Amino acid sequence: MITLVHLYPRHMNIYGDTGNVIVLRQRLRWRGIESRVVPIDVGDPLPHDADIVLGGGGQDAAQGEIGQDFVSRAAELRAMADDGVVFLTICGTYQMLGHEFVTQDGVRITGTSVLDVTTQGTPTRLIGNNYIDTPEFGRLVGYENHSGMTTLGPGVRPLGRTVPGRGNNGKDRTEGAVRDNVFGTYLHGPVLAKSPQFADELARRALVRRGSDADLVPLDDGLAQQAALVAVTRPR
Ligand code: GLN
Repeated sequence: MITLVHLYPRHMNIYGDTGNVIVLRQRLRWRGIESRVVPIDVGDPLPHDADIVLGGGGQDAAQGEIGQDFVSRAAELRAMADDGVVFLTICGTYQMLGHEFVTQDGVRITGTSVLDVTTQGTPTRLIGNNYIDTPEFGRLVGYENHSGMTTLGPGVRPLGRTVPGRGNNGKDRTEGAVRDNVFGTYLHGPVLAKSPQFADELARRALVRRGSDADLVPLDDGLAQQAALVAVTRPR
């Protein structure tokens, strides 16, 4: 049984990010691997047997609403990351895994410092279809919509290089951040729907950590790959 932890599904679920939970569950189910989803809202305890932690995007106001609860879990989330728990965090949750997110209105939202990144909000929004090329997981396809400009520290490496889009900050062409099994990206969509190879990588890492057989039988991903091919031809 694989445990998926879904952080703040009510507050942090814009642009279909809950779809990442659905994609992961279904791909495990197609391999006969059972999973359960534990939604975490303000005040809920984190389960001790988390394998994969997922979190989506959210408006500045929503990030403000969950901010105190989220940062109160900082030590626990860092310990989980140090222990190899897999994280996939999108946009607003990605920002809050960092040290802080200062909104364009100057509101300082303290992060959990799971990732060595810092985000500054600006009046400019980085919006549009995007795909990134990654050294390990091939091409990831989605779209971005954020005011936050993220700077990476030495404790992380970029997830990939943004191609048509603006990525972390519209300057250095980096997109997302990685350390151990912790992944952050600005790609909404949900990103896993059109990047099935990345979904399998997350599942494989969780199974390896559990000492389970991580040899996932290949699936027919023709439809997802076609969707990705169409998506990358779309204008920004
Ligand atoms: N509110 C954050 C920003 O604007 C995150 C947005 C999002 O999650 N799409 O940058």
